[in-house]
Amino acid sequence: MLKDLVSPESASAENTCAGCGLSIKDRFYLLAADRAWHGQCLRCCRCSQPLDTELSCFCRGGNIYCKEDYCRIFSTTRCAKCGDGLSSSELVMRAREMVFHVTCFSCTLCGAPLSAGDTAAIRGGQIFCGEHYDADILQLERWDESFF
Ligand SMILES: [Zn+2]
Ligand SMILES: [Zn+2]
Ligand SMILES: [Zn+2]
Ligand SMILES: [Zn+2]
Repeated sequence: MLKDLVSPESASAENTCAGCGLSIKDRFYLLAADRAWHGQCLRCCRCSQPLDTELSCFCRGGNIYCKEDYCRIFSTTRCAKCGDGLSSSELVMRAREMVFHVTCFSCTLCGAPLSAGDTAAIRGGQIFCGEHYDADILQLERWDESFF
Protein backbone atom coordinates (compact mmCIF):
# COMPACT_ATOMS: atom_id res chain seq x y z
CA MET A 1 0.00 0.00 0.00
CA LEU A 2 1.52 3.23 -1.15
CA LYS A 3 -0.84 5.86 0.08
CA ASP A 4 -1.88 7.33 3.37
CA LEU A 5 -4.42 9.80 4.46
CA VAL A 6 -2.45 12.69 5.87
CA SER A 7 -3.72 15.14 8.41
CA PRO A 8 -2.53 18.78 8.33
CA GLU A 9 -0.59 18.40 11.57
CA SER A 10 1.92 16.03 9.97
CA ALA A 11 2.06 17.83 6.64
CA SER A 12 4.72 20.22 5.48
CA ALA A 13 3.70 23.81 4.86
CA GLU A 14 2.32 24.02 1.31
CA ASN A 15 1.35 21.10 -0.86
CA THR A 16 0.86 21.04 -4.58
CA CYS A 17 -1.29 18.31 -6.09
CA ALA A 18 0.75 16.04 -8.35
CA GLY A 19 -2.35 15.48 -10.48
CA CYS A 20 -3.73 18.95 -11.30
CA GLY A 21 -0.82 21.13 -10.14
CA LEU A 22 -3.00 23.30 -7.89
CA SER A 23 -2.26 23.80 -4.24
CA ILE A 24 -4.09 21.59 -1.82
CA LYS A 25 -6.28 23.44 0.63
CA ASP A 26 -8.38 20.47 1.66
CA ARG A 27 -8.12 19.37 5.23
CA PHE A 28 -7.17 15.89 4.09
CA TYR A 29 -5.30 14.79 1.05
CA LEU A 30 -3.65 11.64 -0.20
CA LEU A 31 -0.01 10.76 -0.31
CA ALA A 32 1.01 8.43 -3.12
CA ALA A 33 4.35 7.87 -4.83
CA ASP A 34 5.88 10.38 -2.38
CA ARG A 35 3.64 13.12 -3.68
CA ALA A 36 0.46 14.78 -2.51
CA TRP A 37 -2.84 14.45 -4.37
CA HIS A 38 -6.38 15.78 -4.09
CA GLY A 39 -8.62 12.79 -3.44
CA GLN A 40 -10.36 13.31 -6.78
CA CYS A 41 -7.07 13.75 -8.67
CA LEU A 42 -5.60 10.38 -7.78
CA ARG A 43 -6.61 8.40 -10.83
CA CYS A 44 -5.19 5.60 -12.89
CA CYS A 45 -3.22 7.12 -15.77
CA ARG A 46 -4.60 4.44 -18.12
CA CYS A 47 -8.30 4.01 -17.36
CA SER A 48 -8.89 7.17 -15.28
CA GLN A 49 -10.56 5.14 -12.59
CA PRO A 50 -10.50 7.18 -9.35
CA LEU A 51 -8.25 5.54 -6.81
CA ASP A 52 -9.06 7.52 -3.69
CA THR A 53 -11.36 4.78 -2.46
CA GLU A 54 -9.17 1.92 -3.60
CA LEU A 55 -7.10 0.15 -0.99
CA SER A 56 -3.98 0.34 -3.06
CA CYS A 57 -2.58 2.04 -6.08
CA PHE A 58 0.64 1.41 -7.91
CA CYS A 59 3.32 3.77 -9.10
CA ARG A 60 5.89 3.35 -11.82
CA GLY A 61 7.94 6.01 -13.57
CA GLY A 62 5.98 8.76 -11.84
CA ASN A 63 2.65 7.48 -13.15
CA ILE A 64 -0.15 6.08 -11.05
CA TYR A 65 -1.95 2.88 -12.03
CA CYS A 66 -4.85 0.87 -10.68
CA LYS A 67 -4.05 -2.72 -9.79
CA GLU A 68 -5.57 -4.13 -12.98
CA ASP A 69 -3.65 -1.86 -15.33
CA TYR A 70 -0.44 -2.19 -13.39
CA CYS A 71 -0.58 -5.97 -13.62
CA ARG A 72 -1.59 -5.85 -17.27
CA ILE A 73 1.28 -3.56 -18.25
CA PHE A 74 4.06 -4.73 -15.96
CA SER A 75 3.24 -8.37 -15.34
CA THR A 76 6.05 -10.67 -16.32
CA THR A 77 3.61 -13.30 -17.59
CA ARG A 78 2.00 -12.26 -20.84
CA CYS A 79 -0.68 -13.62 -23.10
CA ALA A 80 1.18 -15.43 -25.89
CA LYS A 81 -1.13 -13.90 -28.50
CA CYS A 82 -1.77 -10.22 -27.69
CA GLY A 83 1.25 -9.72 -25.43
CA ASP A 84 -0.66 -8.03 -22.59
CA GLY A 85 0.38 -8.94 -19.08
CA LEU A 86 -2.02 -11.12 -17.15
CA SER A 87 -3.47 -9.96 -13.86
CA SER A 88 -4.38 -12.23 -11.00
CA SER A 89 -8.15 -12.05 -11.50
CA GLU A 90 -8.17 -12.87 -15.20
CA LEU A 91 -9.59 -16.01 -16.72
CA VAL A 92 -6.96 -17.66 -18.88
CA MET A 93 -6.42 -20.75 -21.02
CA ARG A 94 -3.29 -22.66 -20.22
CA ALA A 95 -1.37 -25.76 -21.25
CA ARG A 96 2.03 -26.48 -19.81
CA GLU A 97 3.81 -23.10 -19.56
CA MET A 98 1.73 -21.35 -22.24
CA VAL A 99 -0.99 -18.91 -21.21
CA PHE A 100 -3.61 -17.01 -23.25
CA HIS A 101 -6.56 -14.77 -22.47
CA VAL A 102 -9.76 -16.75 -22.95
CA THR A 103 -10.86 -14.07 -25.44
CA CYS A 104 -7.60 -14.42 -27.40
CA PHE A 105 -7.89 -18.14 -27.66
CA SER A 106 -9.28 -18.87 -31.12
CA CYS A 107 -7.99 -20.60 -34.24
CA THR A 108 -5.74 -18.41 -36.38
CA LEU A 109 -7.15 -19.89 -39.60
CA CYS A 110 -10.89 -20.28 -39.03
CA GLY A 111 -11.38 -18.01 -36.03
CA ALA A 112 -13.25 -20.71 -34.13
CA PRO A 113 -13.20 -19.93 -30.39
CA LEU A 114 -11.77 -22.77 -28.36
CA SER A 115 -12.74 -23.64 -24.83
CA ALA A 116 -11.62 -25.70 -21.89
CA GLY A 117 -11.07 -29.35 -22.76
CA ASP A 118 -10.55 -28.59 -26.45
CA THR A 119 -7.31 -29.47 -28.12
CA ALA A 120 -5.29 -26.93 -30.09
CA ALA A 121 -1.74 -26.55 -31.30
CA ILE A 122 0.40 -23.45 -30.86
CA ARG A 123 3.26 -22.13 -32.92
CA GLY A 124 4.83 -18.69 -32.49
CA GLY A 125 1.81 -17.30 -30.66
CA GLN A 126 -0.54 -18.61 -33.35
CA ILE A 127 -3.29 -20.99 -32.39
CA PHE A 128 -4.55 -23.81 -34.60
CA CYS A 129 -7.72 -25.76 -33.85
CA GLY A 130 -7.86 -29.56 -34.12
CA GLU A 131 -8.94 -29.31 -37.76
CA HIS A 132 -6.35 -26.83 -38.91
CA TYR A 133 -3.13 -27.92 -37.31
CA ASP A 134 -0.38 -29.53 -39.29
CA ALA A 135 0.19 -32.96 -37.78
CA ASP A 136 3.70 -33.14 -39.21
CA ILE A 137 5.03 -30.15 -37.28
CA LEU A 138 2.58 -29.42 -34.50
CA GLN A 139 1.53 -31.34 -31.48
CA LEU A 140 -1.98 -30.92 -30.07
CA GLU A 141 -2.28 -29.89 -26.44
CA ARG A 142 -5.30 -30.16 -24.23
CA TRP A 143 -6.18 -26.76 -22.77
CA ASP A 144 -7.62 -25.92 -19.38
CA GLU A 145 -9.37 -22.80 -18.22
CA SER A 146 -8.45 -21.26 -14.89
CA PHE A 147 -8.01 -17.98 -13.10
CA PHE A 148 -4.49 -16.85 -13.61
ZN1 LIG B 1 -5.47 18.01 -7.78
ZN1 LIG C 1 -6.58 1.59 -14.52
ZN1 LIG D 1 -4.45 -11.87 -24.98
ZN1 LIG E 1 -9.46 -23.75 -37.26
